[in-house]
Amino acid sequence: MEFRKLRLSGFKSFVEPATLRIEPGLTGVVGPNGCGKSNLLEAIRWVMGENSPKSMRSGGMEDVIFAGTATRPPRDFAEVVLHAADDAGDDLDVVRRIERGAGSAYRLNGRDVRAKDVSLIFADAATGAHSPALVSQGKIAQVIAAKPTERRMMLEEAAGISGLHVRRRDAEQK
Ligand code: ATP
Ligand code: MG
Repeated sequence: MEFRKLRLSGFKSFVEPATLRIEPGLTGVVGPNGCGKSNLLEAIRWVMGENSPKSMRSGGMEDVIFAGTATRPPRDFAEVVLHAADDAGDDLDVVRRIERGAGSAYRLNGRDVRAKDVSLIFADAATGAHSPALVSQGKIAQVIAAKPTERRMMLEEAAGISGLHVRRRDAEQK
C-alpha cells in the first residue's frame, strides 16, 4: 500500500482545506511548535479508523473538529481524505467525516462503508491506525514500558494479522 495524498478540512488546526502530496521516499514535515505536525499524523491514523479519542489527544471524538479561535467560528464537521494505492496499484480513496452530534461516516472509492471495512483494509496491509509505522511523540518510551500483551499487539499489527482477529471475533459471535 502506498499513501499518495492527504486532504484535511476542518480537522483540528486545519480549518481551511489543505492538501498534502506524499511523494515516494521519505517525507519530512517541519515547522514551529504547535503548527500542526502531530495533527497531520493523527489525521492519517483517524482516516484509517482510529476510534480511541485518547490516541487523538482528544476527550471525545468530536474534539477533532476545528474548535474555533478568537477570530474564527468553530466548524460543524471535520473531513479527511486519503488517496492511496493498493499493492496492485489500484486507487484506494478513503474518506472519513464526522459531524457534530452525528458521529463518523466512511466512504471507500465513493461508496458508503462501515468503519470496520476501512479498518480491515489497512490492518490487512499492515498499516492500520495502530501500526508501528506511525511513531507518535512519546511512543518510543511507551514501547519500552509496554506490557508483553501490548507488545504482542504491536507485533501482530506489524505482521498484518490483526485483521484476522477481528474476523475471528465476528465469526465466533455468529
Ligand atoms: P510540536 O512541535 O510541539 O510537537 P506540532 O507541530 O506537533 O507541535 P500539533 O500538536 O500538531 O503541533 O498542533 C497543536 C495545535 O493544534 C494547537 O495549537 C492546538 O490548539 C491545535 N488544535 C488541536 N485540536 C484543535 C481543534 N479541535 N481546533 C482547533 N485547533 C486545534
Ligand atoms: Mg508534535
